[in-house]
Amino acid sequence: MAPAIDVIHDEATFLNNSVVNTHEIIDDKIKPIAGFEPGEDLEVSPGATALSKKLVGEALVEQIEGIDHELCDAGDEDSFFVADLGEVYRSFKMWKQQMPQVLPHYAVKCNTDPAVIKLLGTLGANFDCASKKEIDTILGLGFDGSRIVYANPCKTNSFIRHARECDVNLTTVDNSQELYKLKKHHPECGILIRIATDDESAQCRLSTKFGCSVSSALNELLPLCQELDLKVKGVAFHVGSGAKDFDSIYKAVKDSRTVFDKAEEMGMPMSVLDIGGGFERETFGESSAMVRYSLGKYFPQTYADQHGILFIAEPGRFMVANAFTLASHVIARRDLGKEQYDMEAMIYVNDGVYGNMNCILFDHQHPVAHVLRHDGKIYYDGETVDDEDKDIQGTVRRFAFLIWGPTCDGLDCISTRSEFATNINVGDWLYFPNLGAYTLAATTSFNGLGGLANVKYVSSAPEVRL
Ligand SMILES: *Cc1c(COP(=O)(O)O)cnc(C)c1O
Repeated sequence: MAPAIDVIHDEATFLNNSVVNTHEIIDDKIKPIAGFEPGEDLEVSPGATALSKKLVGEALVEQIEGIDHELCDAGDEDSFFVADLGEVYRSFKMWKQQMPQVLPHYAVKCNTDPAVIKLLGTLGANFDCASKKEIDTILGLGFDGSRIVYANPCKTNSFIRHARECDVNLTTVDNSQELYKLKKHHPECGILIRIATDDESAQCRLSTKFGCSVSSALNELLPLCQELDLKVKGVAFHVGSGAKDFDSIYKAVKDSRTVFDKAEEMGMPMSVLDIGGGFERETFGESSAMVRYSLGKYFPQTYADQHGILFIAEPGRFMVANAFTLASHVIARRDLGKEQYDMEAMIYVNDGVYGNMNCILFDHQHPVAHVLRHDGKIYYDGETVDDEDKDIQGTVRRFAFLIWGPTCDGLDCISTRSEFATNINVGDWLYFPNLGAYTLAATTSFNGLGGLANVKYVSSAPEVRL
């Protein structure tokens, strides 16, 4: 069950979704793209990070200490999450500070946890949905359909009708068939033309599957929108996720302006620019600086004012990735010949690639294992080291393991080598931080192994009270 959330925030600075002067927030140091210099790394205060660690640790320990591992019922030792809603709050706040002119529409597919959705919606975020069920999830939590962008360029007919019935009136399109479908099932829907981007450097590429060329937008889709008398509202793009450089943002914003200009020339002025998702906390200083720079150049304040431009985005992982920590139980251990393998053993935990760590396969992630409990002692945050785990000189030994998930499939490998300061035995617990994005949203029940994990909530932000 999601907890009731009480959010305290400063409305004036926090819910300001209006278009602000892009020039004002452009850092003087930012140069033209050829020599574009990334902004500084953004860090949250060490105090907040320390409090988050502490609260997450306490919640992890409380949960596993409550289990009598010899006599517990089946399922009691299932893996589980601890979610720090304070981290979600800080991500949202960081977004507002770096890109106050861009209204985030949280990409629901990334993590459909109801507490996360409620918190983001309460803070003023809108939503990006891709299916009937995602739309229903948002409506079910009390948010209006008008706050949703249906950001799937290839939609099922019945879902389009459902969107119309639910007052979802903004969607993305990248091909002419989709325009005919909308004409038939939702003729009043606002349309964003999704253009392809140069996402070669991204880990999760999207433009191989979605997005039309600029020339197709100009010569095919805009004329067809006009012919069918559809409400073409703007342009959308997504530069892919896990990108290493953000020139793709600059190029996509530039391409968007080309489409805006053509639409205006055709007598259909546009007013929405959707810059998509793919943002990450680690690289946000640079990506947000590139967004500010690009908007300042191609959608400057005077232009934005004249055209009443609304800038939106579809961040998913940025909001939730570091807010969830997974705890998993060691269910088996197979010892290896240490000389041959240079490892202690292979260990098997009760969650894996078919469960909450599907992100290894689907999202190119590498969950990092840490010891939570070994032989009845807590090792959270690497603090405790057993005397028996020190060698004669007193230095800490390292113990290496290969970690498998619980299914019978050889693909279900979590880590080919993880090193700890302690040994690991059956009955121990491991934890994996930073598993909030594309994890619990895509589990399977393969091998009869459920996949659903309970979520315990904490909040390290005083503004978010549980
Ligand atoms: C998946 C997706 C997103 C979110 O991507 P993140 O990398 O999680 O930010 C946003 N928009 C669209 C259209 C998507 O498919």
